[in-house]
Amino acid sequence: MLTAYITHPACERHEMGPDHPECPERLAAVADHLLIKGLMDCMQPYEAPAVTREQLLRVHSALWVDRLKAISPAEGYVPVDPDTWMNRHTLEAARHAAGAAVLAVDLVLRGEAPSAFCAVRPPGHHAARAQGAGFCFFNNASVAVAHGLNAHGLQRVALLDFDVHHGDGSEDIWAGDERVLLCSSYQAGLYPFRDEQPPAANVVLAGLPARSGGTLAREAIGRSWLPRLAAFAPELIVVSAGFDAHREDELGSLGWVEADYAWITQQIVAQAAASAQGRIVSLLEGGYSLSALGRSVAAHLRELVQ
Ligand SMILES: [Zn+2]
Repeated sequence: MLTAYITHPACERHEMGPDHPECPERLAAVADHLLIKGLMDCMQPYEAPAVTREQLLRVHSALWVDRLKAISPAEGYVPVDPDTWMNRHTLEAARHAAGAAVLAVDLVLRGEAPSAFCAVRPPGHHAARAQGAGFCFFNNASVAVAHGLNAHGLQRVALLDFDVHHGDGSEDIWAGDERVLLCSSYQAGLYPFRDEQPPAANVVLAGLPARSGGTLAREAIGRSWLPRLAAFAPELIVVSAGFDAHREDELGSLGWVEADYAWITQQIVAQAAASAQGRIVSLLEGGYSLSALGRSVAAHLRELVQ
């Protein structure tokens, strides 16, 4: 059985104007690098279905889901926040990005794939229950978590987020829900500027200083995430896999390298083997230096596909 690689052509038709860092070329950069490195041969490709309204309403308000449909433009761009714009393909792309999350959970929980990677955009972890923000419309990783809990009857799902930005949308959705352990590492003092103490006992925050590098990140994650994960013993691990903490990425300055993504993935794989029958669903979030993005995703997947 091969790791599933899930994407959809609509994810490359969503764009937010010239010079926006969250650009369609990101997905081609990932796919091209995986092809060159032979990693595509180690994965089974799938086309993402569209998410259903019922699947979205597990994590988003009806008001927000309906509003996105209502403001979806026939041409040009419509803003959701100053950084986040819809074009005429955005809604379709967002539906398939969230649908990829659902398919990924179905495949790994039915035993049809040991793990899954969703190469999708728009990303999701800044999308809160009732509001999109920060390039995000629907919270794809949270749709995956909710699908594991509601459709597959899981009791404990871990959501791990190593994007350089704090996953505030996921925190808004899951804080206080004891079925979910949310662990987030991020650069302190960076967008979305919410670096306060954890809002609930099921949230573990590892805020890292700018320019602190991968060694300090590994220590912090080893100290804060890993003991909590081991005690929680998740039945499924969902990963908000953002690669913008890389030292070549201009949106952050944590100074991580490919080896840091390999290390963190090794820790996730070990925990999944211990409590979750190896089941991991990873979803692309940020990562804006095209070259570093391709190399970092490859480092992540090299550990995942073993
Ligand atoms: Zn990010």
